[in-house]
Amino acid sequence: MSNRYPFELKPLPYEYNALEPHIDEATMKLHHDKHLKAYVDKLNEIVGPYPEFHNWYLETFLCNIHSLPNTLQTPIRNNAGGVYNHNLFFSLLSSKDTNSIPIGNLAEKIEKDFGSYENFKEKFKEAALSRFGSGYAWLVIDRNKNLKIITTANQNTPLELNLYPVLVIDVWEHAYYLKYNNRRNEYIDNFFSVLNFKKAEELYNRFFA
Ligand code: MN
Repeated sequence: MSNRYPFELKPLPYEYNALEPHIDEATMKLHHDKHLKAYVDKLNEIVGPYPEFHNWYLETFLCNIHSLPNTLQTPIRNNAGGVYNHNLFFSLLSSKDTNSIPIGNLAEKIEKDFGSYENFKEKFKEAALSRFGSGYAWLVIDRNKNLKIITTANQNTPLELNLYPVLVIDVWEHAYYLKYNNRRNEYIDNFFSVLNFKKAEELYNRFFA
């Protein structure tokens, strides 16, 4: 799967209906096949005319937005961000056979930094609800190697802030409106039931490897 130009639409790591009843099949189809695909296509259109960037990885763009030509910065932030954020978000959701509670080193660190998983969930939910308009809530590792909850607007990523992502929830309306209408609150509660902590633990350990 190419993580460089030409970028490709990465398939979901599970069936469209794998997250039912928490996240419905129609939403997943639309979210992956239409929304994510649009970001992939647009990113290729933007990067195409610049052969000097054809060997850049998605992450290279996002960590170095400020060294890009001015006219590319916003379109790359929006579209490389759109591809990166969705790929990460989808990969952190699970079908039934994976862990929906924290495990291993990440579980320990969550206890240490937030007191308990329950307390973490409360804080994460608060953040996800507080994101005005479109964006994401994240659990990230900061410069001091501690866990921190942040939110980002639009398709901005934590990479630009030198933060390393471990968990993410998409709170754009397209992520939940079909099933939950305006009830972001309920969507967030159910999101925790399909969180793939096996994958989150992998990301966490990769940072320290
Ligand atoms: Mn989305």
